[in-house]
Amino acid sequence: MFQAFFGQSYADAKSRFLGAAARQGCHVQSYVNPAASGVDGESLTTDVAYCGSTDARSLLILTSAMHGEEGYCGSGCQVALLNDQALLERAQANGIGILLIHAVNPYGFSWGHRTNEDNIDLNRNFCDFSKPLPDNRHYLALHPLLIPESWPPGAENAAAIQAFITTEGEQAYREGMMLGQYSHPDGLFYGGLSPSWSNLTLRDILGQFGKDRDRIAWIDYHTGLGPYGHAEKIFVQKGQPEYQRARSWWGADVVSVVDPDSSTVDIGGTGMRALLEECSHVPELTFMAQEYGTVPMDEVFLALRGDRWLGCHKDADPAQRRAMKAAHKAAFYPDHDDWRGAVVGQSRTSLLQAINGLSAG
Ligand SMILES: [Zn+2]
Repeated sequence: MFQAFFGQSYADAKSRFLGAAARQGCHVQSYVNPAASGVDGESLTTDVAYCGSTDARSLLILTSAMHGEEGYCGSGCQVALLNDQALLERAQANGIGILLIHAVNPYGFSWGHRTNEDNIDLNRNFCDFSKPLPDNRHYLALHPLLIPESWPPGAENAAAIQAFITTEGEQAYREGMMLGQYSHPDGLFYGGLSPSWSNLTLRDILGQFGKDRDRIAWIDYHTGLGPYGHAEKIFVQKGQPEYQRARSWWGADVVSVVDPDSSTVDIGGTGMRALLEECSHVPELTFMAQEYGTVPMDEVFLALRGDRWLGCHKDADPAQRRAMKAAHKAAFYPDHDDWRGAVVGQSRTSLLQAINGLSAG
């Protein structure tokens, strides 16, 4: 039954989302990305659906595709919510408006990349560009190893990466890979040198819909880290009261990025900053990134590296390209009913908990 919530392409996901939003009578608005069109020539939009009263004091936000191809998951959860009358009514009865932001990065969603039209990782792009950008010295060393001349990488390449880990440590490798870098526009986890279209669009939406609220909660959906089908609840805000509130709503398995148990690292420039900056007048802001596991991390990283290798090798063999694109999609969207079921079930629990949290007091 969950199959119907999930699209098989960006265009399919968007049409399921817009169809479900129309059936619910949501207010809908669309933002067209002027930089590019989609893989089948379709227009690339971030679409917004708002359910509930415009003067609701509380707001629950769900975002999909901050990381392009990860969008199948978040889009499916958004469509599931649009089909969940009980949750929608509960939100409405408690003075909570629901804001669904579909495809923050429509380019990556359509073309099958984690990054946007400029190879920018949006979750590294919300920096203060008036200040010097973070310097990721580990990435500098890793870049030529991560994106080697030929693909697939051979035993020599694996040995060189292992030698880096042995010398610098596992944490240096994780940080080098995931912290974000601002020196290699063709590399992995590139944060860009100025705010991207998606960054400005998201800020615009949050500024507009965040006005006149007392409380905002935001769940940002991601995939690719952690055990298959399991939702890791990642807390990226700073501040003890916020952390305590997130744990009281969503449980003791909310993990802060600074916690050693976290699958991720403490990244600067995440999308959450848009909320803190555009909605700074709102007294209570609660943010959680929800990260659904797919395939083992080594396979996810290999798929990401491969996608960047393809980006640097436009003349790659078409059959090899197709196989690598399929592996990339599978790394961020396991096309299986058990996975979709696990995702929708856990998402519903988190949404109910957020509605309860926003209703309390
Ligand atoms: Zn992600």
